[in-house]
Amino acid sequence: MKKVVKFGGSSLASAEQFGKVGAIIRADKDRRYVVPSAPGKRDSKDTKVTDMLYGAYALAEKGKDFDKELEAIKARYQEIIDGLRLELSLDKEFEKVKADFKAKAGSDYAASRGEYLNGIIMADYLGYDFIDAAEVIFFDDNGNFMPDKTNEVLRDRLKESERAVIPGFYGAKLDGTIKTFSRGGSDITGSIVAKAAKVDVYENWTDVSGFLVADPRVIDNPKGIDTITYRELRELSYMGASVLHEDAIFPVRKEGIPINIRNTNAPKDKGTWIVEDTCQRSKYTITGIAGKKGFCAINIEKDGMNSEVGFGRKVLQAFEQNGISFEHVPSGIDTMTVFVHQSEFEEKEQNVLATIHKLVQPDFIELEADLALIAVVGRGMRQTRGTAGRIFSALAHANVNVKMIDQGSSELNIIIGVKNDDFEEAIRAIYRIFVEIQL
Ligand code: ADP
Ligand code: ASP
Ligand code: MG
Repeated sequence: MKKVVKFGGSSLASAEQFGKVGAIIRADKDRRYVVPSAPGKRDSKDTKVTDMLYGAYALAEKGKDFDKELEAIKARYQEIIDGLRLELSLDKEFEKVKADFKAKAGSDYAASRGEYLNGIIMADYLGYDFIDAAEVIFFDDNGNFMPDKTNEVLRDRLKESERAVIPGFYGAKLDGTIKTFSRGGSDITGSIVAKAAKVDVYENWTDVSGFLVADPRVIDNPKGIDTITYRELRELSYMGASVLHEDAIFPVRKEGIPINIRNTNAPKDKGTWIVEDTCQRSKYTITGIAGKKGFCAINIEKDGMNSEVGFGRKVLQAFEQNGISFEHVPSGIDTMTVFVHQSEFEEKEQNVLATIHKLVQPDFIELEADLALIAVVGRGMRQTRGTAGRIFSALAHANVNVKMIDQGSSELNIIIGVKNDDFEEAIRAIYRIFVEIQL
């Protein structure tokens, strides 16, 4: 058996956490490839090293002094090195980082140093080989990840290493410029390495005992999920369940490599298995609930729009022309609503409205801001009648006004739109009815 193990920021935030990680890796000789994140928060008030690096680089970019900021970052690593009693010095590395910051090497380069330096420490601590992700993970000139080239090069490189550390989060463009994935992207690196090494399991170690039915920051002590499918997980992670990056399933999905989410602070817990499909029923009708705030709804009305061929396309074209992607488009006979991310939409709203007017001459357009979307996801919903009805009645009981409801054609999810202010209460009401009362 071969396993890839990825450890998140909180699992590597201090020497003490490194100690736990070392014990986990040494406890199973199959744990041959290790993907570390940058050191995360040691407590809720702490700052992630990645954010410290972005901060320091922002100063460098403006030509301002960033010595103090870089020293604080170095101190985070030194604390780990000293705590582990390693004879390793990062002095040379930090000199280079400083020079590269001064030469304005880019914010992706800056952020990537978080995992790069942590990878060097990890390899030293474990006695594993160190493989710089810039040499094995590739992006094209437009910054798009190159799966085939990466797989080829990484596969060959891993064949030479019995045991290795590959830092998460970044790779390089063909000209050598460092490029990162989006935030939380070390999960993607773990998956890429799992595929290239053809491992049996991708273990993703974090600070919770697996995927929980709802966000623990909203629900006190939510129940855990034993098994979840890739599709369910993608719906939930896209909608804000940040445990695993939403793109992390792509590399392993086609290979049939399961992902096991585990807790570094409770290594005996079995965690969650993420699999292609399962005959196992989930414990409840729903598998999970997740959601995000900060959406805006654009409601377009025009009598007879249903018989106007091309109406929907033209409305969406108005968004496309302004470079805005849409989330949901529920529609009626004479109305069509487009949900978009408020932050993307705000500065372009008047342009979008003008374009819609020009393209489809609506009777009326109305905007509603500060909305949240909640996804209720579950493979069990298809076999169960009345799921939407139960959600409605739970929300009505909780005095939450439902702005929108949209059931995906796969019947795997129901999306509900509510006001930002009702977000937490809505999640609690849905959790109560499906998990606590189990109606
Ligand atoms: P890491 O640094 O290990 O990558 P993350 O912070 O990215 O960890 O993800 C783990 C966090 O995700 C948890 O601490 C928890 O606060 C949050 N989270 C959000 N939704 C869920 C959920 N449904 N189940 C478990 N954790 C969740
Ligand atoms: N360190 C990066 C971040 O904070 C990547 C990761 O942790 O996965 O987003
Ligand atoms: Mg993460």
